[in-house]
Amino acid sequence: MKITYLGHASFKIEEDGKIVFVDPWLSGPTSPITVDDVDKADIVLVTHDHGDHGYAEALGICKNTGATFVAINELAHKAGSQGVKEIHTLNIGGSVNIGGVVVTLVQAFHSSGIGAPTGFVVRFPSNTFYHSGDTGVFSSMELLSDLYGPIDLALIPIGSYFTCDAHQAALATKLLRPKNVIPMHYDTFPVIEANPEKFKSLVSEASPNTNVIILKPGESTEI
Ligand code: ZN
Repeated sequence: MKITYLGHASFKIEEDGKIVFVDPWLSGPTSPITVDDVDKADIVLVTHDHGDHGYAEALGICKNTGATFVAINELAHKAGSQGVKEIHTLNIGGSVNIGGVVVTLVQAFHSSGIGAPTGFVVRFPSNTFYHSGDTGVFSSMELLSDLYGPIDLALIPIGSYFTCDAHQAALATKLLRPKNVIPMHYDTFPVIEANPEKFKSLVSEASPNTNVIILKPGESTEI
């Protein structure tokens, strides 16, 4: 599984011949690419309706590439009404198999313009990742590995103010039991400045079996 960090909460994940974008805020200040740079995508996921999570860019990617848009019911219906041809209108707990990639909508504790805030568990044939969306920590995160695990990669916010801080994110990691974790949603704005090395040291104490990967916007890694 190849992971490219596009800044903030935005990721491009490539696995088993599929390309998935999550929260593609490609007009954001830390994005290394724009919508026009994306010429291939299969699935685009948007966790919630806040401008910094890329709903508008997701529409552009889906229209340019024919990718399938997946979000909570109200947001996906809006995308359909705005010209996206392939949509899935999930709600919390629901799954859909898109060409062999199983996408599950899971809870998050946050707010949202329309619909409700969510996270995603995405199961490729070979690997599984969890993107928490914007959220604080919650104890039922531990159910996600029970239901859908093992989780090969978790993407967790550490920036505080709008989401988990590093301490909450370390506890989230302990509950999720992923093989790898990448911190996100920090340093984009002054109010969410955070030190990912502090998160790394907290995880190495509490979850020694989890590997912490710190990426700068534009960097990729393979797991
Ligand atoms: Zn948000």
